[in-house]
Order: sequence, then structure tokens, then C-alpha cells
Amino acid sequence: MILIVAEHAGGKLGKSTLEMVTAARESGREGPITLLVLGSGVADVANAGAAYADQVLVADLPELAGYNAELWAAATAQIAQEGEASTVMIGGSRSGREYAPRVAVKLDAPYLEDAIRLTSNGTALQAQRYTYLARVTETVEAEGPVIVVTVKPGSFAPAQAAAAGEQYDVELTLPTPRVEVTGKSVEKSSRVALTEADVIVTGGRGVGSPENFASYVEGLADAIGAGVGATRAVVDAGWRPYAEQVGQTGKTVQPGAYIALGVSGAVQHLSGMGKSKHIIAINKDAEAPIFKVADYGIVGDVNQIVPALIEEARK
Ligand code: FAD
Repeated sequence: MILIVAEHAGGKLGKSTLEMVTAARESGREGPITLLVLGSGVADVANAGAAYADQVLVADLPELAGYNAELWAAATAQIAQEGEASTVMIGGSRSGREYAPRVAVKLDAPYLEDAIRLTSNGTALQAQRYTYLARVTETVEAEGPVIVVTVKPGSFAPAQAAAAGEQYDVELTLPTPRVEVTGKSVEKSSRVALTEADVIVTGGRGVGSPENFASYVEGLADAIGAGVGATRAVVDAGWRPYAEQVGQTGKTVQPGAYIALGVSGAVQHLSGMGKSKHIIAINKDAEAPIFKVADYGIVGDVNQIVPALIEEARK
């Protein structure tokens, strides 16, 4: 089986899980697509997952109420072993990349990190991933009865519902974790999360100031119900938090529409959003590299164009 560890939050299946289902379907690896749902009170997540997988294994336990690397690794390795998984897929989120290597060690399996494409022949699995500041895409290959891989979020299109998987409760023997999560603070925002958004408005240095960013980028995003992204230049200048950074050292996104305001389109930015379905760019420099990837472009000043767009959108 191909075992996918579901990523979920607030009782909802994460988009990254649907992306992993696509990765599994495209990978050519053998066996039923199996979703493993770890957590406490995760019935809704398991029900939602059943529409995408051949089967759903559910470990609904109070000990799994919050993410803990030791528990997630132990649970995943145990299920992979019992089900003789050929492939274990874990989201390339911060937590996924924390516990995935532990799973590989427990299974004595090769580990491929941050895959943006997966193919296979025979027992070998090839993963493409970015290297050298995302200027180069390398292909790495692993072979073995079981291979652990993390999938870079935003690199595969989310799967469409196409299954009616059976659900099974699983029993686990969990260790006593040596690390305890003692607190968690979640930033509250009414805006859709960047990695979940179907439309993203991103601001670059060209918007001019943090105040303009609030008026133009947030203003347009709120008018059309979009998520907010930023370039590294903007984050480095302290205008916006790192959580909003899109690009090689930020988040990878693949929304239906990506609206770039005052963004030059540096290669490290493009590597994080280049697979968006439609790219719309506004930049006063007609030679800006962003126009090479844009489906629609306006050469002009954001100060003039964006307020007019917001006014139109609010109508
Ligand atoms: P600029 O390159 O300064 O571009 C501003 C643009 O705004 C220009 O094209 C200009 O014509 C336009 N403009 C100016 N005024 C106006 C106006 N009034 N109206 C309309 N347009 C206007 N960058 C990322 O974004 N994400 C990353 O993850 C990332 N990782 C990196 C990792 C490494 C190792 C390195 C070396 C760099 C990385 N960078 C990353 C930085 C990247 O190389 C660029 O420096 C950055 O993306 C530029 O941001 P920008 O487009 O906002 O700014």
C-alpha cells in the first residue's frame, strides 16, 4: 500500500493531503492508496478523507490530541510495517519534515525529501526536487521494499474526490514521549490561509511601503476573498511576517489565480508560485521577469491601478 499520513487542522482535511493523493496516483507505486488519520476527535477528517483514498486507517486517541514527533513517527512506522507499505508519504510541512526521517530510521528505509514530482520504475522511486537556490531541479532515486518521502506542499494539484474508501480503526502501541508540547498560540485571522487559498494577492517591494501593502494588497485580497502573500524583499524589510513569504525559502503555492503587485519575478519567487493556474501581474517595468510567466499583465503603477481594481471588486 501507499500510506499517506493525513495533514489536518481544525477538523478539516488539509489541501496538502489532497496534493499527496495526486502524488500517490501519479507516482506509479503499487498498492491501494491508504490514508492514515492520526489525532483525537478526527471523525470528520476521516469521513472527508474517504472520498480520496481506497481505505482510511483511523487512530483516534487522546494521546494524539496534539502533534508530537515521537508519537507521529512511532504510529506511522507501526502502521507502515503492519500494512507492508511500499511507500510512506508525509507532508513537507515543518512538522512533516521533523518526523519523516524518524519514520525512515524506524523502518530502515531510504528517505527522499521535498519531492515536487514522483515517478517509478520497478521497485525504484524517483523524486524531483529543487536545489541550488531552485535554479536546478535534480532527480534522486531510491530503491527498497519501503521508501519514505516528503512531498513539498503546493507542488501537486489537489486530487478530486474519486473514491469511497472503507474506514478502519487501528490499534497502536505508543511510546511515552520525551518531549511535551506545553503551549501553542495560533495567530487569528479571518483571511484564508496562504496554502489553502484558491486566489492569492501578493505584494512586492514595488507597492512602496507597509501602509500601501495594507491598502493595496490586503485591500484587494479582502475585496475578493483571497489570501495574502509577500516577497522576501518585503519580509526582509519587516513589512510583513515570514509566514506570508512565497518562494524558495517561503511557501510553495499553486492557487487558481495569483495576483502579483509590484513583484519583479525573481527566480526564487517564481519557484514558489510558478505553477499557479493563472498569473496576473501589475508592474511598471514592462521588462520585469514576472511578465514572462504571467497570463495577464498590466504595465503600470500600482498606486493608480490597484485602488481602481478594489473599487470595481467591491461593487
Ligand atoms: P524587487 O526585485 O525590488 O522588485 C520590485 C518590482 O516592483 C520591480 O519589478 C519594479 O519594477 C516594480 N515596481 C516598483 N514600483 C512600482 C510601482 N509603483 N508600480 C508597479 N510596479 C512597481 N524571494 C522571494 O520572493 N521568495 C523567496 O522565498 C526567496 N528566497 C530567496 C532565497 C535565496 C537564497 C536568495 C538569494 C534570494 C531569495 N529571494 C526570495 C529573493 C529574490 O531573489 C528577490 O530579491 C525578491 O524576490 C525580490 O522581491 P520583490 O520582487 O518584492 O522586489
